[in-house]
Amino acid sequence: MSESRTPEYFPYEEPRPHQSEFIKLVSEAVKNGENAIIEAPTGFGKTVSVLAGVLPYAKEMGYKVLYLARTHKQMDRVIEELKAINRKVQVSGAEMRSRKELCLHNYLVEYTSDAYTAMVVCKNLRKMGKCIYFENEKKKKSEFEGVVNFFLQEPSFPSEIIDYAKTLELCPYDITRQVAFKSDVIVASYLYMLNPSIRENFMTYLDLDYSDLIVVFDEAHNLPDQSISALSDRLSIHTINRGIKEADEYRENEIANFLSILGRGLEILYSEKLGDREVKEVPLMPHEIFSHLVNVLNIDGRYLIRFLNEMVAVGDSIREDRIEKGKTPRSYIGRVGEFLLNWLSTVEREDYLFLMSRERGMSLEIVALDPSKALDWIEKVQSAIFMSGTLTPLQAFRDVMGIPSAKLKKFPRMVKKENAQILVAKDVSTRGDERSLQAYKRMVEYIVEATKSIPKNVGVFAASYEVLQGLLSANLQVKLEETGKAIFIEKQGASSKENDAMIASFKAHSKGRGAVLLGVMGGRNSEGQDYSGDEMNGVILVGIPYARPTPRVQAQIRYFERKFPGKGRYYGYYLPAHRKLVQAAGRVHRSAEERGSIIVLDYRLLWSTIRKDLPDWMKESLRPVDLPRMRLYLRRFWGTH
Ligand code: SF4
Repeated sequence: MSESRTPEYFPYEEPRPHQSEFIKLVSEAVKNGENAIIEAPTGFGKTVSVLAGVLPYAKEMGYKVLYLARTHKQMDRVIEELKAINRKVQVSGAEMRSRKELCLHNYLVEYTSDAYTAMVVCKNLRKMGKCIYFENEKKKKSEFEGVVNFFLQEPSFPSEIIDYAKTLELCPYDITRQVAFKSDVIVASYLYMLNPSIRENFMTYLDLDYSDLIVVFDEAHNLPDQSISALSDRLSIHTINRGIKEADEYRENEIANFLSILGRGLEILYSEKLGDREVKEVPLMPHEIFSHLVNVLNIDGRYLIRFLNEMVAVGDSIREDRIEKGKTPRSYIGRVGEFLLNWLSTVEREDYLFLMSRERGMSLEIVALDPSKALDWIEKVQSAIFMSGTLTPLQAFRDVMGIPSAKLKKFPRMVKKENAQILVAKDVSTRGDERSLQAYKRMVEYIVEATKSIPKNVGVFAASYEVLQGLLSANLQVKLEETGKAIFIEKQGASSKENDAMIASFKAHSKGRGAVLLGVMGGRNSEGQDYSGDEMNGVILVGIPYARPTPRVQAQIRYFERKFPGKGRYYGYYLPAHRKLVQAAGRVHRSAEERGSIIVLDYRLLWSTIRKDLPDWMKESLRPVDLPRMRLYLRRFWGTH
């Protein structure tokens, strides 16, 4: 590809020089069947560049591009770019969402809360002939084909497909699936490819073969955490207790007895292991949870597995029965059966940890330790591209995610040096032994001073909710009120709707006197949220978000140490915290022209061992300060008094 010519699938006038290099790198990787791990800053135009890089070869050779993103907003962004490309050269694409979001049936919309239940309910409604939209597919065959062809000509948002489907009384999910089936690009949430059973369903449903795919992972820095959570599972004692009631209701006496004895055994274990100890979780030997059951019922492993499979089957019939009766389609018996079978299937594996925790009264947890297992299919695809603004150090990302034969590439920052200010307080830190009311008061002084000097909106992201609480108990809120800016505090456990409304209101204050948002690093408002212009002129990062040394964190470190000798602690403990900090810092600059201040209240960031994990644009501008210096530099930078 010549750099002077606009690439065929690039829809805008001219790619910028780095974009041309990006497109070339990606197009060579897909041709050679290699993978690529690319760090490129926000505002670079990664989405359009990666599409322009993969599409020529994919179209020529008949590969399907599977573009995986984390949020709906990011997925819509891909459709937007595909629409732009389609105005220049024909390309088809579909945004695959779950039935939960693409269904018109009242019962499913009202009673299901997750994609899996929505799938089960949809299957049953179809089987029972109770979905008119599905029935219409047979009656209105030509309309169905017509609408699929229409959307194959024009990449469309899910809302556009839903509107058409409503008018024609057809199923939007089936239309989307048919479009996806024939499209050049499928856009989906990357959770579809991380959980093994969801993945198998997804692949079968779309009739995909791994070898036909070129996969793009957007915002790939999320992958280690998301993979761990997709491979892990948890069951609370409440589910077991509800299972007993359900078994009574359906006269499943043997199951009721089994669950009562299991529950009793877990209570005994709980008082032995956690009882009055201060800890929140303890590791278990996987077989321990069955000891009481085996003693009382005198059963062996084979019987146990057979019984659990039966519970899963009973659970399926209960769900069907509840759908018939117009009730929520759940089964606690089925859920316990599925969880315990999953527990038993991972017993011998050293990449899993088994825990009992105080979560929701008492819970059993299967904790995955190896995120690369979520990508154990990656060698089968033609090529996989991983990209994000925060992947430094790229080798560590490659190791942790187990990505073979990968090209590594970092593109320089877009933000102009004079537009970024990074100040590190040299006299405070959130190190465990330094946390005190006195220290929090000192940090509050920094935060209030910075909030006064930075115009409009400011984000304050603490290392943890515990640190945030420490700041609040040192009078942070009262002191901030004196600045005249509105204050928003992120709530742990708030629904997405509640949180979105809060963020919208916070952003709106940038048009007035400004506002302060208090939250945590690694949270939904310090990652994945876009704040443009005055919506966030500065972030104050309080501490470095190192995890507490819980059994799961220690097990993670030990596991990585075995897999990558000498690097266990670095990969399992330091690096994830440094990435969270860099993500939160990235909230202030959404384009090259934006000005922003980043203030870190932790002198450890000045240490070379930590500094080396920062992106170049941060390293270059970093300056140690005390309180008067910070005030001076901020006022100079912003021209405020
Ligand atoms: S066939 Fe479509 S409309 Fe009917 S229940 Fe399933 S997803 Fe919903």
